[in-house]
Amino acid sequence: MISVEEAWQIIQSCKPNYGEISVPFEDALGRVLAEDIRADRDLPPFNRVAMDGIAIRYDDYLRGNRHYAVSQVVGAGDAPPDKLDKNTCFEIMTGASLPSCTDTVVPYEHLNVKDGTAEILKEVTHKGQNIHFQGTDKKSGTLLIKPGIRIGPVEISVAASVGKSGILVKKLPKVAIFSSGDELVDVDKVPLPHQIRRSNSHLIRAALKQTGIDTAMVHLADNKENIQEALEIAVQENDILILSGGVSMGKYDYLPEALESVGVKKLFHKVKQRPGKPFWFGSFGEQGVVFALPGNPVSTHFCLVRYVLPWLEETLGNQSRPPILAVLDEDFTFEPPLQLYKQVKIFQNETAQLMARSVVNKGSGDFSSLLEADGFLELPADQQVFKAGEKFRFWEFRH
Ligand code: AMP
Ligand code: MG
Repeated sequence: MISVEEAWQIIQSCKPNYGEISVPFEDALGRVLAEDIRADRDLPPFNRVAMDGIAIRYDDYLRGNRHYAVSQVVGAGDAPPDKLDKNTCFEIMTGASLPSCTDTVVPYEHLNVKDGTAEILKEVTHKGQNIHFQGTDKKSGTLLIKPGIRIGPVEISVAASVGKSGILVKKLPKVAIFSSGDELVDVDKVPLPHQIRRSNSHLIRAALKQTGIDTAMVHLADNKENIQEALEIAVQENDILILSGGVSMGKYDYLPEALESVGVKKLFHKVKQRPGKPFWFGSFGEQGVVFALPGNPVSTHFCLVRYVLPWLEETLGNQSRPPILAVLDEDFTFEPPLQLYKQVKIFQNETAQLMARSVVNKGSGDFSSLLEADGFLELPADQQVFKAGEKFRFWEFRH
């Protein structure tokens, strides 16, 4: 049996490349950027008026003039006029391009404007006040967004502002999800007393949907031939297979054997961890991978949070976030030589430390306990006694 770190290294050593695709910028939300986004002009592109008021020449003000005849009103979007008589001003609006014959903006709050004359009531602090000068945010050509960013609303707005109507993003893999087990029935069915509704496949599908990936879903009955047939097709049609159930020691746990029989190469089976010990991982073809997750719902969820989702993020080139640490809030002992991922609820204490409190649960079959947890606290396999106040890595699944 291998350690969590070894398992993670093996998974990370699979680095498929699904390529890139250009999408309309409105559809790029949530996708991973695959090109440089640069400023196509200076930002701002002209000397932008930053307050509604009047534009004057500072020299006129220095010579003592406080009354300015308004020669013209200049709105945002107007081409700036190029002439201004001595001791006159433009009434000018935020967002307008500052006429080059003026150099200072006095806001309405400091003026009394009456009968076509603006009187300055408050001291002008400096030449150039209330002007957002051309190129002071970014120069034309500056790299604004690097590839590997997951595109959010701010990135969409910046792309729009520099005229990127089409954006190159990472292509998404084709993923199929499999549930397995004769005890499982569809969500809309009433289960017989000895049956349950299938839920893991919906968990996996929803988690992938959050990363922008749509998935196909297939159910495998506990029948060797049927499983083999379904997997044979699946490896031809998909980049990634995610299975749940059927990988433990049971009589009907056919998946490891069936996967190998359709040409999936086993890279590991079983990891020194709780939950999720029977986790099976393999590869096929040029860049296909198979995550066969143990069927207990908490195990499936844990393997998804600890391995599948972080690997997908890395594979798509998304820059990984620094690990989060949380402080254990009670003493705890765990003796088996397994890395324990404890379900915890997170809260901030009075000194703003992130604290982790255990969520009571009945083991890896107790999926309803996940409703109370925010994530898993990683308690290392080589430690048995864990003290309140010690910091450990926190794998968040609820934001
Ligand atoms: P297995 O790994 O197939 O031995 O399954 C372990 C436990 O997880 C059993 O109690 C199964 O009924 C349950 N299980 C397996 N697959 C699912 C699923 N898709 N949804 C809900 N429970 C499942
Ligand atoms: Mg089963």
